[in-house]
Amino acid sequence: MNINEKNINEYIENTIRNDIRLLTGYQINQFDNNYNIKLDSMECPYKLPKFVYEKISNVIQQTNLNRYPNPDISGLKYAIKDIFFIPDDIDILFGNGSDELINLIIQSCCNPGDYVISPWPSFVYFKISTCINHAKFIGVPLKDNLQVDMTAMLESIYRYKPKVIFLAIPNNPTGCLLSRSSVETILKYSKGLVVIDEAYQAFTKNTWMEKISKIPNAVILRTFSKIGLAGLRIGYMVGSNKWLRHIDKVRPPYNINSLTRTVLITILKNWFLIDKHISSILKARKLLIKSLDKLPGIYLFPSEGNFILVRFTGKLSSNFVYSSLKSRKILVKNLSDSDPLLYNCLRISVGTPKENSILVTALKDILS
Ligand SMILES: *Cc1c(COP(=O)(O)O)cnc(C)c1O
Repeated sequence: MNINEKNINEYIENTIRNDIRLLTGYQINQFDNNYNIKLDSMECPYKLPKFVYEKISNVIQQTNLNRYPNPDISGLKYAIKDIFFIPDDIDILFGNGSDELINLIIQSCCNPGDYVISPWPSFVYFKISTCINHAKFIGVPLKDNLQVDMTAMLESIYRYKPKVIFLAIPNNPTGCLLSRSSVETILKYSKGLVVIDEAYQAFTKNTWMEKISKIPNAVILRTFSKIGLAGLRIGYMVGSNKWLRHIDKVRPPYNINSLTRTVLITILKNWFLIDKHISSILKARKLLIKSLDKLPGIYLFPSEGNFILVRFTGKLSSNFVYSSLKSRKILVKNLSDSDPLLYNCLRISVGTPKENSILVTALKDILS
Protein backbone atom coordinates (compact mmCIF):
# COMPACT_ATOMS: atom_id res chain seq x y z
CA MET A 1 0.00 0.00 0.00
CA ASN A 2 1.07 3.56 -0.69
CA ILE A 3 0.25 6.91 0.84
CA ASN A 4 -1.43 9.23 -1.58
CA GLU A 5 -3.23 12.54 -1.05
CA LYS A 6 -6.65 10.93 -1.36
CA ASN A 7 -6.38 7.90 0.90
CA ILE A 8 -4.58 9.64 3.75
CA ASN A 9 -7.13 12.49 3.77
CA GLU A 10 -9.95 9.99 3.93
CA TYR A 11 -8.48 8.24 6.97
CA ILE A 12 -7.88 11.58 8.64
CA GLU A 13 -11.39 12.88 7.98
CA ASN A 14 -12.83 9.67 9.40
CA THR A 15 -10.62 9.77 12.45
CA ILE A 16 -9.37 13.18 13.63
CA ARG A 17 -12.12 15.11 15.44
CA ASN A 18 -13.91 17.67 13.32
CA ASP A 19 -13.33 20.50 15.79
CA ILE A 20 -9.62 19.65 16.00
CA ARG A 21 -9.29 19.74 12.21
CA LEU A 22 -10.81 23.22 12.22
CA LEU A 23 -8.84 24.45 15.24
CA THR A 24 -5.95 26.90 15.00
CA GLY A 25 -3.39 25.72 17.54
CA TYR A 26 -1.40 27.92 19.95
CA GLN A 27 0.58 30.35 17.78
CA ILE A 28 4.27 30.70 18.46
CA ASN A 29 6.40 33.27 16.64
CA GLN A 30 9.12 31.51 14.68
CA PHE A 31 12.30 32.97 16.09
CA ASP A 32 15.45 32.91 14.06
CA ASN A 33 18.57 34.90 14.50
CA ASN A 34 17.11 37.47 12.14
CA TYR A 35 15.85 39.39 15.15
CA ASN A 36 18.28 41.28 17.29
CA ILE A 37 15.72 42.11 19.90
CA LYS A 38 12.99 39.72 21.01
CA LEU A 39 10.25 41.39 23.04
CA ASP A 40 7.27 39.25 22.05
CA SER A 41 6.78 36.62 24.73
CA MET A 42 7.59 37.97 28.20
CA GLU A 43 10.82 36.07 28.58
CA CYS A 44 13.48 37.32 30.97
CA PRO A 45 16.20 38.97 28.86
CA TYR A 46 18.97 38.00 31.27
CA LYS A 47 20.93 34.74 31.23
CA LEU A 48 22.18 33.09 34.40
CA PRO A 49 25.91 33.52 35.02
CA LYS A 50 28.47 30.94 33.99
CA PHE A 51 29.07 29.59 37.51
CA VAL A 52 25.43 28.47 37.71
CA TYR A 53 25.75 26.68 34.38
CA GLU A 54 28.85 24.97 35.75
CA LYS A 55 26.95 23.80 38.83
CA ILE A 56 24.20 22.57 36.52
CA SER A 57 26.68 20.55 34.43
CA ASN A 58 27.95 18.93 37.62
CA VAL A 59 24.54 17.88 38.90
CA ILE A 60 23.48 16.64 35.48
CA GLN A 61 26.44 14.28 35.49
CA GLN A 62 24.99 12.65 38.59
CA THR A 63 21.55 12.14 37.05
CA ASN A 64 20.54 8.59 36.24
CA LEU A 65 18.97 9.05 32.83
CA ASN A 66 18.35 5.30 32.60
CA ARG A 67 15.88 5.54 35.50
CA TYR A 68 12.48 7.14 35.69
CA PRO A 69 12.43 10.33 37.77
CA ASN A 70 12.24 9.74 41.53
CA PRO A 71 8.56 9.92 42.51
CA ASP A 72 9.48 11.65 45.80
CA ILE A 73 9.27 15.32 44.88
CA SER A 74 9.12 16.62 48.48
CA GLY A 75 12.58 18.25 48.30
CA LEU A 76 11.50 20.49 45.45
CA LYS A 77 8.18 21.28 47.16
CA TYR A 78 9.96 22.23 50.34
CA ALA A 79 12.41 24.56 48.56
CA ILE A 80 9.59 26.27 46.67
CA LYS A 81 7.43 26.72 49.77
CA ASP A 82 10.34 28.35 51.48
CA ILE A 83 11.21 30.84 48.74
CA PHE A 84 7.69 31.81 47.72
CA PHE A 85 5.99 32.05 51.14
CA ILE A 86 3.57 29.21 50.48
CA PRO A 87 1.54 28.27 53.56
CA ASP A 88 2.50 24.96 55.20
CA ASP A 89 -0.94 23.38 55.04
CA ILE A 90 -1.11 23.84 51.29
CA ASP A 91 -0.05 21.36 48.60
CA ILE A 92 1.83 21.84 45.33
CA LEU A 93 1.31 20.08 41.98
CA PHE A 94 3.89 20.47 39.19
CA GLY A 95 3.20 20.78 35.49
CA ASN A 96 5.28 20.78 32.34
CA GLY A 97 4.69 24.53 32.17
CA SER A 98 1.53 25.91 33.74
CA ASP A 99 -0.05 25.23 30.34
CA GLU A 100 -0.16 21.56 31.29
CA LEU A 101 -1.82 22.42 34.61
CA ILE A 102 -4.53 24.37 32.77
CA ASN A 103 -5.27 21.18 30.81
CA LEU A 104 -5.30 19.02 33.95
CA ILE A 105 -7.76 21.36 35.67
CA ILE A 106 -10.22 21.28 32.79
CA GLN A 107 -9.82 17.54 32.28
CA SER A 108 -10.49 16.79 35.93
CA CYS A 109 -13.40 19.24 36.34
CA CYS A 110 -15.37 19.38 33.09
CA ASN A 111 -17.77 16.90 31.59
CA PRO A 112 -18.29 17.37 27.83
CA GLY A 113 -20.33 20.54 27.34
CA ASP A 114 -19.57 22.05 30.77
CA TYR A 115 -18.66 25.73 30.77
CA VAL A 116 -15.36 27.43 31.46
CA ILE A 117 -15.29 31.21 31.65
CA SER A 118 -12.70 33.95 31.79
CA PRO A 119 -12.66 37.68 31.25
CA TRP A 120 -11.59 38.17 27.62
CA PRO A 121 -9.13 38.87 26.04
CA SER A 122 -6.89 36.93 28.38
CA PHE A 123 -4.40 34.08 28.08
CA VAL A 124 -5.25 32.31 24.81
CA TYR A 125 -4.52 28.83 26.13
CA PHE A 126 -7.49 29.02 28.55
CA LYS A 127 -9.70 28.90 25.47
CA ILE A 128 -7.71 26.38 23.44
CA SER A 129 -7.45 23.98 26.37
CA THR A 130 -11.20 24.24 27.04
CA CYS A 131 -12.03 23.45 23.41
CA ILE A 132 -9.68 20.49 23.06
CA ASN A 133 -11.10 19.01 26.26
CA HIS A 134 -14.73 19.01 25.06
CA ALA A 135 -15.85 21.87 27.34
CA LYS A 136 -17.37 25.18 26.22
CA PHE A 137 -15.50 28.43 26.59
CA ILE A 138 -17.19 31.73 27.36
CA GLY A 139 -14.96 34.80 27.15
CA VAL A 140 -16.62 37.68 29.00
CA PRO A 141 -15.59 40.86 27.11
CA LEU A 142 -13.54 43.39 29.05
CA LYS A 143 -14.77 46.98 29.16
CA ASP A 144 -13.37 49.47 26.62
CA ASN A 145 -10.69 50.48 29.15
CA LEU A 146 -9.72 46.76 29.28
CA GLN A 147 -10.81 46.36 32.91
CA VAL A 148 -12.99 43.38 33.88
CA ASP A 149 -16.72 44.00 33.44
CA MET A 150 -18.00 42.71 36.78
CA THR A 151 -21.68 42.98 35.89
CA ALA A 152 -21.10 40.84 32.80
CA MET A 153 -18.94 38.40 34.78
CA LEU A 154 -21.63 37.86 37.41
CA GLU A 155 -24.31 37.50 34.74
CA SER A 156 -22.22 34.84 32.98
CA ILE A 157 -21.54 33.01 36.24
CA TYR A 158 -25.29 32.96 36.93
CA ARG A 159 -26.20 31.91 33.41
CA TYR A 160 -23.53 29.31 32.57
CA LYS A 161 -22.74 27.94 36.05
CA PRO A 162 -19.10 27.41 34.99
CA LYS A 163 -17.14 24.51 36.42
CA VAL A 164 -13.95 26.56 36.11
CA ILE A 165 -13.26 30.32 36.06
CA PHE A 166 -9.80 31.48 35.00
CA LEU A 167 -8.59 34.83 36.34
CA ALA A 168 -5.12 35.87 35.16
CA ILE A 169 -3.91 38.42 37.72
CA PRO A 170 -2.18 40.47 36.31
CA ASN A 171 -3.91 39.71 33.03
CA ASN A 172 -2.05 38.81 29.84
CA PRO A 173 -2.15 40.63 27.37
CA THR A 174 -3.50 43.74 29.10
CA GLY A 175 -1.28 43.93 32.19
CA CYS A 176 -4.24 44.98 34.34
CA LEU A 177 -4.86 43.79 37.89
CA LEU A 178 -8.29 42.59 38.95
CA SER A 179 -9.22 44.28 42.23
CA ARG A 180 -9.28 42.19 45.39
CA SER A 181 -12.92 42.99 46.03
CA SER A 182 -13.85 41.80 42.50
CA VAL A 183 -12.02 38.52 43.08
CA GLU A 184 -13.85 38.12 46.40
CA THR A 185 -17.18 38.68 44.67
CA ILE A 186 -16.36 36.10 41.99
CA LEU A 187 -15.28 33.59 44.66
CA LYS A 188 -18.53 34.16 46.49
CA TYR A 189 -20.83 33.59 43.52
CA SER A 190 -18.90 30.80 41.80
CA LYS A 191 -20.05 27.25 42.52
CA GLY A 192 -17.02 25.75 40.74
CA LEU A 193 -13.24 26.18 40.89
CA VAL A 194 -11.68 29.64 40.52
CA VAL A 195 -8.15 29.45 39.11
CA ILE A 196 -6.05 32.49 39.99
CA ASP A 197 -3.25 32.50 37.42
CA GLU A 198 -0.33 34.43 38.91
CA ALA A 199 2.09 33.93 35.98
CA TYR A 200 3.26 37.55 36.43
CA GLN A 201 3.23 37.70 40.22
CA ALA A 202 6.94 38.51 40.41
CA PHE A 203 6.24 41.90 38.86
CA THR A 204 3.46 43.06 41.18
CA LYS A 205 2.91 43.26 44.93
CA ASN A 206 -0.50 41.67 44.55
CA THR A 207 -0.87 37.97 45.40
CA TRP A 208 -3.54 35.65 46.80
CA MET A 209 -0.95 33.26 48.23
CA GLU A 210 -1.33 34.20 51.90
CA LYS A 211 -5.12 33.84 51.61
CA ILE A 212 -5.24 30.56 49.71
CA SER A 213 -5.61 28.31 52.79
CA LYS A 214 -8.80 30.15 53.69
CA ILE A 215 -10.51 29.93 50.29
CA PRO A 216 -12.46 26.70 49.70
CA ASN A 217 -12.92 27.12 45.93
CA ALA A 218 -9.65 28.45 44.48
CA VAL A 219 -6.20 27.30 43.41
CA ILE A 220 -3.26 29.46 42.32
CA LEU A 221 -1.08 28.85 39.25
CA ARG A 222 2.52 30.04 39.11
CA THR A 223 5.22 29.51 36.49
CA PHE A 224 8.99 29.86 36.25
CA SER A 225 8.72 30.88 32.59
CA LYS A 226 8.41 34.65 32.99
CA ILE A 227 11.19 34.94 35.57
CA GLY A 228 14.04 33.54 33.56
CA LEU A 229 13.41 29.83 33.09
CA ALA A 230 11.08 29.62 30.09
CA GLY A 231 13.23 26.89 28.57
CA LEU A 232 12.85 24.58 31.57
CA ARG A 233 9.08 24.20 31.13
CA ILE A 234 7.88 24.02 34.71
CA GLY A 235 4.97 25.58 36.51
CA TYR A 236 3.04 24.71 39.66
CA MET A 237 -0.38 24.77 41.18
CA VAL A 238 -0.92 25.69 44.81
CA GLY A 239 -4.04 24.71 46.74
CA SER A 240 -5.64 22.37 49.22
CA ASN A 241 -4.67 18.74 48.83
CA LYS A 242 -8.42 18.04 48.76
CA TRP A 243 -8.48 19.59 45.25
CA LEU A 244 -4.97 18.68 44.14
CA ARG A 245 -5.19 14.96 44.87
CA HIS A 246 -8.00 14.64 42.32
CA ILE A 247 -6.39 16.86 39.69
CA ASP A 248 -3.19 14.84 40.17
CA LYS A 249 -4.93 11.69 38.91
CA VAL A 250 -5.16 13.19 35.42
CA ARG A 251 -1.48 14.14 35.30
CA PRO A 252 0.62 12.04 32.89
CA PRO A 253 3.10 9.95 34.89
CA TYR A 254 6.56 11.50 35.31
CA ASN A 255 5.52 14.75 33.62
CA ILE A 256 8.50 16.58 35.11
CA ASN A 257 11.70 14.99 33.87
CA SER A 258 14.81 14.38 35.97
CA LEU A 259 16.85 17.08 34.23
CA THR A 260 14.25 19.80 34.81
CA ARG A 261 14.05 18.93 38.49
CA THR A 262 17.78 18.77 39.02
CA VAL A 263 18.37 22.03 37.21
CA LEU A 264 15.56 23.82 39.03
CA ILE A 265 16.80 22.71 42.46
CA THR A 266 20.26 24.03 41.60
CA ILE A 267 18.84 27.37 40.52
CA LEU A 268 16.60 27.63 43.60
CA LYS A 269 19.75 27.41 45.73
CA ASN A 270 20.97 30.55 43.95
CA TRP A 271 17.62 32.33 43.86
CA PHE A 272 19.15 35.72 44.72
CA LEU A 273 20.32 35.83 41.08
CA ILE A 274 16.76 35.55 39.79
CA ASP A 275 15.65 38.17 42.32
CA LYS A 276 18.30 40.52 40.94
CA HIS A 277 16.98 39.97 37.41
CA ILE A 278 13.44 40.69 38.59
CA SER A 279 14.47 44.00 40.19
CA SER A 280 16.35 44.98 37.03
CA ILE A 281 13.22 44.30 34.98
CA LEU A 282 11.09 46.36 37.37
CA LYS A 283 13.49 49.28 37.07
CA ALA A 284 13.61 48.89 33.29
CA ARG A 285 9.79 48.81 33.15
CA LYS A 286 9.56 52.14 34.96
CA LEU A 287 12.02 53.73 32.57
CA LEU A 288 10.42 52.18 29.47
CA ILE A 289 6.98 53.48 30.50
CA LYS A 290 8.42 56.95 30.99
CA SER A 291 10.11 56.98 27.57
CA LEU A 292 7.15 55.46 25.68
CA ASP A 293 4.79 57.93 27.31
CA LYS A 294 6.70 60.82 25.73
CA LEU A 295 6.15 59.52 22.18
CA PRO A 296 3.36 61.04 20.09
CA GLY A 297 0.23 59.03 19.22
CA ILE A 298 0.69 56.23 21.72
CA TYR A 299 -1.49 55.23 24.68
CA LEU A 300 -0.12 52.97 27.41
CA PHE A 301 -2.36 50.71 29.43
CA PRO A 302 -1.20 50.51 33.06
CA SER A 303 0.80 47.31 33.53
CA GLU A 304 1.72 45.18 36.53
CA GLY A 305 3.50 42.59 34.34
CA ASN A 306 6.89 42.46 32.61
CA PHE A 307 5.25 43.80 29.46
CA ILE A 308 3.29 46.84 28.35
CA LEU A 309 0.23 46.95 26.13
CA VAL A 310 0.26 50.02 23.92
CA ARG A 311 -2.27 51.44 21.48
CA PHE A 312 -1.41 53.65 18.53
CA THR A 313 -3.84 56.53 18.44
CA GLY A 314 -2.39 58.63 15.61
CA LYS A 315 -2.36 58.06 11.85
CA LEU A 316 -0.21 54.92 11.91
CA SER A 317 -1.80 51.52 12.45
CA SER A 318 -0.25 48.99 14.81
CA ASN A 319 0.16 46.67 11.81
CA PHE A 320 2.37 49.27 10.18
CA VAL A 321 4.38 49.90 13.36
CA TYR A 322 4.74 46.14 13.89
CA SER A 323 6.19 45.58 10.40
CA SER A 324 8.41 48.63 10.66
CA LEU A 325 9.85 47.30 13.92
CA LYS A 326 10.23 43.88 12.33
CA SER A 327 12.22 45.30 9.45
CA ARG A 328 14.52 46.80 12.09
CA LYS A 329 14.91 43.32 13.55
CA ILE A 330 12.82 44.07 16.63
CA LEU A 331 10.09 41.54 17.42
CA VAL A 332 7.04 42.46 19.54
CA LYS A 333 3.54 40.94 19.70
CA ASN A 334 0.91 42.33 17.34
CA LEU A 335 -2.54 41.92 18.89
CA SER A 336 -4.60 44.15 16.66
CA ASP A 337 -6.29 41.31 14.81
CA SER A 338 -6.67 39.02 17.83
CA ASP A 339 -9.71 40.76 19.35
CA PRO A 340 -11.83 43.82 18.50
CA LEU A 341 -11.03 45.30 21.93
CA LEU A 342 -7.32 45.26 21.11
CA TYR A 343 -7.50 47.32 17.91
CA ASN A 344 -4.21 49.01 17.09
CA CYS A 345 -2.48 47.35 20.03
CA LEU A 346 1.01 45.91 20.38
CA ARG A 347 2.30 44.11 23.44
CA ILE A 348 5.91 44.86 24.28
CA SER A 349 7.86 42.73 26.75
CA VAL A 350 10.31 44.59 28.96
CA GLY A 351 13.86 43.85 27.82
CA THR A 352 17.26 45.01 29.05
CA PRO A 353 17.70 48.81 29.35
CA LYS A 354 19.73 48.70 26.14
CA GLU A 355 17.08 46.73 24.22
CA ASN A 356 14.35 49.04 25.49
CA SER A 357 16.25 52.12 24.45
CA ILE A 358 16.82 50.72 20.92
CA LEU A 359 13.08 49.99 20.76
CA VAL A 360 12.15 53.51 21.90
CA THR A 361 14.53 55.09 19.37
CA ALA A 362 13.04 52.96 16.60
CA LEU A 363 9.48 53.88 17.63
CA LYS A 364 10.38 57.56 17.81
CA ASP A 365 11.69 57.31 14.28
CA ILE A 366 8.67 55.37 12.98
CA LEU A 367 6.11 57.66 14.62
CA SER A 368 7.67 60.97 13.56
C1 LIG B 1 2.75 32.64 29.91
C2 LIG B 1 1.52 32.32 30.66
C3 LIG B 1 1.25 31.03 31.11
C4 LIG B 1 2.03 29.83 30.65
O1 LIG B 1 3.17 29.61 31.29
P1 LIG B 1 4.05 28.31 31.04
O2 LIG B 1 4.41 27.92 32.42
O3 LIG B 1 5.20 28.77 30.22
O4 LIG B 1 3.23 27.25 30.37
C5 LIG B 1 0.13 30.82 31.90
N1 LIG B 1 -0.71 31.82 32.18
C6 LIG B 1 -0.50 33.07 31.75
C7 LIG B 1 -1.48 34.14 32.09
C8 LIG B 1 0.61 33.36 30.95
O5 LIG B 1 0.78 34.59 30.46
